Amino acid sequence: MKDLNALNTHELRAFFDSFDHVLCDVHGVLWNVLETIPGAAAAVASLQNLGKTFIVVSNNTTATLDDYHHDFTSKGFPIKRENIVTPIQTTISYLKKQNFSKEVFVLGTHPLKKSLRDAGFRIAERGPLEIKETFHALAAASTEDDGSVGAVVADIDLNVNYVNLQKAVTFLKRPEVIFIRGTGDARFGVGLDRVVMGPGVFHAIVEECSGREPVSVAKPAPFANEFIVEKYKIGDASRVLFIGDSIPSDMGFATKFGYKKLLVLSGLTKEGALEDWKFPEEYRPDYFVDSLKSVHDLIGRI
Ligand SMILES: [Mg+2]
Repeated sequence: MKDLNALNTHELRAFFDSFDHVLCDVHGVLWNVLETIPGAAAAVASLQNLGKTFIVVSNNTTATLDDYHHDFTSKGFPIKRENIVTPIQTTISYLKKQNFSKEVFVLGTHPLKKSLRDAGFRIAERGPLEIKETFHALAAASTEDDGSVGAVVADIDLNVNYVNLQKAVTFLKRPEVIFIRGTGDARFGVGLDRVVMGPGVFHAIVEECSGREPVSVAKPAPFANEFIVEKYKIGDASRVLFIGDSIPSDMGFATKFGYKKLLVLSGLTKEGALEDWKFPEEYRPDYFVDSLKSVHDLIGRI
């Protein structure tokens, strides 16, 4: 585990020569919810100027690919639309690989549903969001199943409710119904010292009540990696640098698939966590750096 800022020019050149692709997380690396990380956009441009393919790997499904791309562009990040990977594309890819043609029941956002619809899938009705407060009304709204749903996709559902959780459980009682999980964190940060419940809390309810285990298509699951390797024709994992701020999710993912690891300390992980290591030993990054701004500055020095 080396601090990039402590490398000499020779070591820096060797480091920047050691990879061709960059896989990069978003929150905590390029921006936090409310603000862009200073120097991060310049770092992306510098890495691209060195000839690196810069690919964003995010678990955010609250925006369509077009909207997400627009978000990057408007914040000054020179990231190509085709170089953004989220569980939206991996979910679509997974369903296509199954030749899926039935309805999809989605515990997720409108952008996720719109993207699935645009990819040719039919979305099952949700709701109602509010029912008469009787068990009869709950049962009537959520326990009927005519067999038309063939997959449940559980991701982040910012309008999660009782009826929809039960509907998911009802459909999953049929063993042939595919169960896909996107973003599954139990909690996530939404700004300085503010942490909220993640979708994993609600997925756990569906899993427990249905007795089913989902296939995960989000980072750090193998399917997300298969998608990346196939799409970007990655032949040699050791020539890929993974940049992230989360030890379990980003460093864990990179470890599992043999990527070089750079941990940034501009998000979830603070410097103290490196001394007081509480994660599997193999998750230790090869390098760490305070933020991407330093990466930009260091490229200027080589
Ligand atoms: Mg992050």
